Formats: sequence, structure tokens, C-alpha cells
Amino acid sequence: MEKSRLEINPVEITFLGTSSGVPTRSRNVSSIALRLPQRAEVWLLDCGEGTQHQLLRSDLKISQLRRIFVTHLHGDHIFGLLGLLASCGMAGNAEAIDIYGPEGLAPYLQACTKYSYTRLNYPIKVHTVQPGIVYEDAEFIVTCGSLKHRVPAYGYRFTEKDRPGKFDIAQAQALGIPSGPIYGKLKRGETITLEDGRVINGTELCAPPELGRKVVYCTDTVYCDGAVELAQEADLLIHEATFAHADAQMAFDRLHSTSTMAAQVALGAGVKELIMTHFSPRYAPGNPIILDDLLQEARAIFPNTRLAYDFYTHAVPRRREPVGNNPESIPESIPESSSEPSPAPSKKIIRKRKPKLDSKLDSKLDEEELNVTQPLQL
Ligand SMILES: [Zn+2]
Ligand SMILES: [Zn+2]
Repeated sequence: MEKSRLEINPVEITFLGTSSGVPTRSRNVSSIALRLPQRAEVWLLDCGEGTQHQLLRSDLKISQLRRIFVTHLHGDHIFGLLGLLASCGMAGNAEAIDIYGPEGLAPYLQACTKYSYTRLNYPIKVHTVQPGIVYEDAEFIVTCGSLKHRVPAYGYRFTEKDRPGKFDIAQAQALGIPSGPIYGKLKRGETITLEDGRVINGTELCAPPELGRKVVYCTDTVYCDGAVELAQEADLLIHEATFAHADAQMAFDRLHSTSTMAAQVALGAGVKELIMTHFSPRYAPGNPIILDDLLQEARAIFPNTRLAYDFYTHAVPRRREPVGNNPESIPESIPESSSEPSPAPSKKIIRKRKPKLDSKLDSKLDEEELNVTQPLQL
């Protein structure tokens, strides 16, 4: 974690569950925490059974939980929701939690609270998502796109907005530019003409813009163009890899991905790095095929790949480079925060480019307050 400590505004991902379907001794079912320390918030992606126990064993603060994004309604992604929400209420420090997910999530939670006589004493809003923008604030925009699974499933894309580079006041003063509103224009990169006729281009007085980070989460799904589109040029793609390539038929039958499908999505989308998760317990150590085989299969297609494991925390560093300048090559090094072996040296590869996801897609949201008025029974 050395790297993340050095990062001023880290975005950190902590895997809380990396097994598909059922938990194992070493892997819980799906959940990922997106930690945003600069705003003291934790966002969850999926919430399989036992997620609150995993949170308690991590160094994340449950009191900072603010948003939960649900990919689909299979139990291994949602059975932990009500227990976690109830505990947040009992701890007495939950302010409000917004939950985003497919149609059916709100009635599911309403039924759970009703029949377990659970009363949640803080506001919970359930947003039914459709492809497009699901959430936006000054710093982040979250979009979702349809995946291909046995039930409606959505992948999520978390985009941090670009920030203008730091304005060099000393240089502006050295050039004799009078302070005042003119500095604001130059900070925004505008070109201005001074009273003495000099033309000053604001971008030349600013450091390069800081590119916002992009993290994409695709599960559960078989390989699909929607995943490639959603993951375009992401800094980090987290993609399910339930099966090994040898078990591809099972992946097609059950609409899950193989390691090679995950790698093909990463390659096609031109992402910086890929972390695979949602592994079938059939590849536990001692079996004919183990997870290291899935890793090697994926790295043959997309070298900068690693395997997730429970409590693995991954920092996504900021990129300081001109907006729009996306390097074509995979980074030579990977952060030191992983205990996974380093990938083979990367080689220049030609990537298929797809049009960027249109963020102006229909962003209709249905919001439902959970109607939970029954007293909480312990
Ligand atoms: Zn699943
Ligand atoms: Zn599923």
C-alpha cells in the first residue's frame, strides 16, 4: 500500500468477495468497496451474503457507506444487503444510503424489510437503473450498460471528472499580468488580450490537466460488446472470470465469462489494467485447473492482468497527462501493492477502438423510498 499513501487523492478498490455462487473458506461471494478517502465515503459494488462481516474484518469504515451499486439480482450479489443496511441503522451513524440496481431491487428490499419486521431509521433510496447515467456529482459520474447474463445485469463505469492543471501564479505575476478576474479566465485555459496588446494563452500558465480515473465493473456476463463499450480506455477494468478457457462451454451455457473472455474485453476496450474476479470454486488449489491457469490464459491475451482475492486493495493512480492523450501501450510496471506475480513484459499491441459510450444516453431513474415502518426486531 506504499503507493496509495503517496497519492494525494487516492481511489482505492478493496475486494470483499471474489467467489462466484457460493463462498469458500478463503473467498466470500461478490462485493467490492470503492474507497474515496478525500470525501470520507465508501461505495459498494454488489453485496453478497456476509459482506458486512468482510467489511468488519477490513479497515473500511461501515459508517462511511454512502452508495451501493448492484449489478443484478442473483443471490450471491444481494443476499448481504438487508443485514448490512439493518446494522448500519442499529449503529446509529448512517445518514442516508442510495442503492442503484435493476428493476425488482426495490420490491425485493421492501419484502425483506416487511417480513423480517425490520425498520430502517435512516433514509434509503432505491434507484432503478437503465443504461446511461445513474449518478453524477461535481467529482464523479457513474454510468451503467447492459451485460449478457441469465437475468438483467448491468456493468458500472465510475468516471472521475478531469481537473484543470494548477495555475502558475508566480509565472503570471512575472509576466506582469494584473491579478483579478483575468486570472480566473487564464485558470480555465482561456486566451486573453492584455491592455498592452499582449495575447496570453491560459493553458501555457497551467500544469497539464489531471485526467479523471475510470474504473469499470462488469459482472455477471458472458463476453459481450456492451462490456467492451462500457470499459473503453478505463484505467481499471474489473471483470468476472468464472471459468477457465477449457470450460468455455459452461460459460456459454450459464452466460458467464472465461478468463480469456475477460482478457478479450480488456484488450478490445484498450484498458490500462484488468483484475479478474468471481471465480468458480472448482478452481480451488488441488484441482486439475487452478486460478493461476486462468491468470496465465488471460495474460497471454492481455498481459497487465491480475487475480483478485479477498481483502486485496488496489490503488488506482491519477494520470497527469494532457486530456485526450491516451497512451497506446500497456504500462511496463504494475503497482507494488499487489502480491500477485508481475506480468510478462508488455508488448505493443494493436487495439480495436470502439466509439466512446455516449454519456447522454437516456438517464431515466426511478426512485423509491423504502417503506419500512415496522419496528426493528432483534
Ligand atoms: Zn454471480
Ligand atoms: Zn449472476
